[in-house]
Amino acid sequence: MTVELISVGTELLLGNIVNTNAAFLAEQCAALGLSCYYQTVVGDNEERLLDTIKTAMGRADVLILSGGLGPTPDDLTKETAAKAFGMKLVEDAHSKELIRSYFEMRGKEIVDSNWKQALIPEGAIVLDNANGTAPGVIMEGKDCTAVLLPGPPNELVPMFKNQVVPYLNSKTKRVIYSQTVKICGMGESMVAEKIQDLIDAQENPTIATYAKTGEVHVRITASAEDEKKARKLVKPMRSELKERFKDYIYTTDEDTTLEKSCVDLLVANGLTISTMESCTGGLIAGRLINVPGVSDVFKAGYVTYSNKAKRKVLGVKQTTLKKYGAVSTQVAKEMAEGVSLLTKADVTISVTGIAGPDGGSEEKPVGLVYIGCRVKNKTRVEEYRFSGNRAKIRENAVVAALTLLRKCVLEYYSQVTFKQ
Ligand code: ATP
Repeated sequence: MTVELISVGTELLLGNIVNTNAAFLAEQCAALGLSCYYQTVVGDNEERLLDTIKTAMGRADVLILSGGLGPTPDDLTKETAAKAFGMKLVEDAHSKELIRSYFEMRGKEIVDSNWKQALIPEGAIVLDNANGTAPGVIMEGKDCTAVLLPGPPNELVPMFKNQVVPYLNSKTKRVIYSQTVKICGMGESMVAEKIQDLIDAQENPTIATYAKTGEVHVRITASAEDEKKARKLVKPMRSELKERFKDYIYTTDEDTTLEKSCVDLLVANGLTISTMESCTGGLIAGRLINVPGVSDVFKAGYVTYSNKAKRKVLGVKQTTLKKYGAVSTQVAKEMAEGVSLLTKADVTISVTGIAGPDGGSEEKPVGLVYIGCRVKNKTRVEEYRFSGNRAKIRENAVVAALTLLRKCVLEYYSQVTFKQ
């Protein structure tokens, strides 16, 4: 089945908002085993939108449109799609009731234009909107189906996951099941090289790699008559990947993040942690503290940006700072040891680096980062050279620190089998 995405909104064309809906929908469609060959962004203009829909109808089985379902006159998606499908709009009593109760519950007054959202193409399937007033719509034409979704991501995402995915699965008469194997500490090209033979030979399941900041996700997708059979097809491929990547895999659970895998590992081993950050400015602590349950293990997070703070708070030696500079293996080591002494945490992480754009030199360029990790009485420092702007360098450093933390703990407790 082929699918085509149409994102509607002049704000998208002007670059005022980033088209995260298209990224989300494209990824979801790929996971569902649907082939997506075209994506279009079109402004709030009836003529151009009609033209875009008609072109897409001629080459795809399913069109997914997002945006333009609102109450204002420039929200034209439903009207234009109905025109392209030769359907007239009729009032839907169920949607009208939902809109009424949505406003009532919030104590807001309904204006006449809101009722426009209760107009639905005759015969279309209505998708209830749990987080807004614009219902989604599925219009089934002779050779093509159009799915219309509201623009706000907090409305589109649950509507797609809860209502559109089951619909698409029912249409394909086959169930698509996918599982993601998440890898950290290895670059995308290395990952791809290690599974090139699997990629070349893939049929059902298929596998695909997705590069994320400091991580690579390998998605295994199988199609079968039911979920049980699809899961069975995924299993041997997952085992093969586990065999090839071993501890580089931090999870095979869709909802587990790298920071959650770190917290799980600390909790499983009864280890407490403290962080000491310079160029990442608290981002590592922030990522860890995002994880529910971290309070069992997180002791303290310091940001020691200046040399004085590094000396005063942590006891980094003046002579070390002078001899090697703040961005050095030695200072990262003393930071990790200092915070260990200060907080008595079992595990400590330290980061010092040059995030730029200024402050670099030939010897110590922008992007040079040292990360220290101490587990019990064993300290390890790694050197990294990241590229990109200040934000990218800091983001990379955070992921590298979490990856190093995981690696050091696993090495220290090599008997630990990591919870997948
Ligand atoms: P509403 O009912 O809120 O009017 P709508 O379906 O008419 O929704 P739009 O008016 O097109 O949607 O967009 C509303 C908001 O949704 C935008 O201001 C933007 O914040 C977000 N949005 C729209 N399209 C996208 C997109 N493709 N990616 C990310 N966000 C989007």
